[in-house]
Amino acid sequence: MTTNVIAAGRRAAGNVDVTAIPSVVPNQIGGAETPAADGRTFSKIDPATGRVICEVARSTRRDVDAAVEVARTAQPAWAAMTVVTRGDILRQIAMLMREHRAAIADLVAKETGKSRKDALGETDAAIEMGFFVAGEGRRFYGQTTTSAVPNKSAMVVRQPLGVAGLIIAANTPIANVAWKAFPALLCGNAAIMKAAEDTPLSAWAFGVLAREAGVPEGVYTTIHGFGEEAGAPLVEHPGVAIVSFTGSCEVGRWIAETAGRRLAKTCLELGGKNPLIVCDDADVQNAVTWTLGSAFSNAGQRCAAGSRILVFDAVYDRFRDMLVEATKRLKVGTGDTDDYGPVINEGQMTNMLASVDRARASGAVVLTGGQRLTGAGYDGGYFVAPTILEHVGPNDEISRSELFGPITILYRVRDFEEAIALANDSPFGLTASIHTQNLNRAMTFITRIQSGVAVVNGGTYGSEPHMPFGGLRQSGNGWREAGTQALDVYSDLKTIYINHNPGAI
Ligand code: NAD
Repeated sequence: MTTNVIAAGRRAAGNVDVTAIPSVVPNQIGGAETPAADGRTFSKIDPATGRVICEVARSTRRDVDAAVEVARTAQPAWAAMTVVTRGDILRQIAMLMREHRAAIADLVAKETGKSRKDALGETDAAIEMGFFVAGEGRRFYGQTTTSAVPNKSAMVVRQPLGVAGLIIAANTPIANVAWKAFPALLCGNAAIMKAAEDTPLSAWAFGVLAREAGVPEGVYTTIHGFGEEAGAPLVEHPGVAIVSFTGSCEVGRWIAETAGRRLAKTCLELGGKNPLIVCDDADVQNAVTWTLGSAFSNAGQRCAAGSRILVFDAVYDRFRDMLVEATKRLKVGTGDTDDYGPVINEGQMTNMLASVDRARASGAVVLTGGQRLTGAGYDGGYFVAPTILEHVGPNDEISRSELFGPITILYRVRDFEEAIALANDSPFGLTASIHTQNLNRAMTFITRIQSGVAVVNGGTYGSEPHMPFGGLRQSGNGWREAGTQALDVYSDLKTIYINHNPGAI
């Protein structure tokens, strides 16, 4: 097994190139880069300009069938390696990613329109996830326990599931790949990544590096294409043991139903409408700073975006004025000194602006923003002005649906009781934050908020690779990604009894 790793290291010294964008981004199935089975492609559009960057393999059921076939063939040998060896190979991917971090970040920046600085941050988070998971190869704890019977041992170990179908969103593309691919592979599964159609490039680069790192042929596959054409067949395929999905509630619900029919495991990481509470004793400037980050960073394209800002009456006017003023100073563009870039595609932009228009028509006040940015530097791109609304009812459509854009809503609340009630009155339960200097209030918030993540005096976003992430209600189906908890997603348990002295039992 060591030779594998050394061989992987040697291969890594070779010259992989992820700097040149392929004219047609291929699928990577069984160690080969291939076009879609029927030869079709779709255009990947640059969200910063509206122009075509490249073509991408437009996969269908035939490609998925081929991918599952090679994955099923390759998986047993991968599972038969020790988990330490699998961890070593994954560490090699992480090291290659570090070596090529600038090139990966360039691809992320190109395909999303975000700044290179943000793309580098995301790439580093993905690399860190790789190192964290690789280290789990040396832990991979099970459980040993007592038996009621003498001369009998009892223990629990992890076992792989088989083929993992991984489907991701485009918002933080390389991190989304890393969060699923590393733990799925460590646990001994073969993994098929259906890349987000808006971000094929970073997913392709990961596939190149995985192969270079020594992941055996067929163990890691990347397929490109649209959800209904390339994602759905993966969900429906009887050879896929787990579907791990990051995306919208609507698609998540369909996946749960479809995979549920054959009782396949599903891990669903879905949307959010995350509250940030500003109390009367908050450090208002700090609350403004974190609200800006929560609402607008990454153009609001975060499941953990702060999209409902609940402000105590006593500080509402001051907070609103400071927030609006700071928001008007934000710079939108693709440069490192800009605060955020475009949203990922034209359809998303149109939908979120239509939602703002509907809210306006039913009485909401748009304090700033509410429109597409045009003019020098913006022409053709999908740039949305940072938008703040007020006078929105808690049951209005815009209060209860996720927009996934740089749009947030202010709500005036009387006191803590009203704030916590409104915060919890949501179809979602992903993240939440409170700004207060009162320890008891903070602790009460932590206890009573119904969310997967709770933050005191910070943003609604900002997860770490060693910490579990996920949400309640329609934000997910109970699993957690990242942290050692991700291993629970991609493995099953085996309970073992050994009668080591049968004659004496
Ligand atoms: P989406 O559901 O439209 O698409 C996500 C992925 O699913 C894409 O790869 C798409 O091709 C695929 N897909 C679409 N229809 C499919 C189908 N019928 N079968 C199989 N696959 C299908 O979501 P989006 O708008 O691209 O992403 C934004 C959503 O992702 C938001 O709701 C956001 O909150 C969520 N998200 C959640 C997390 C989390 O960890 N909870 C993280 C990031 C994003």
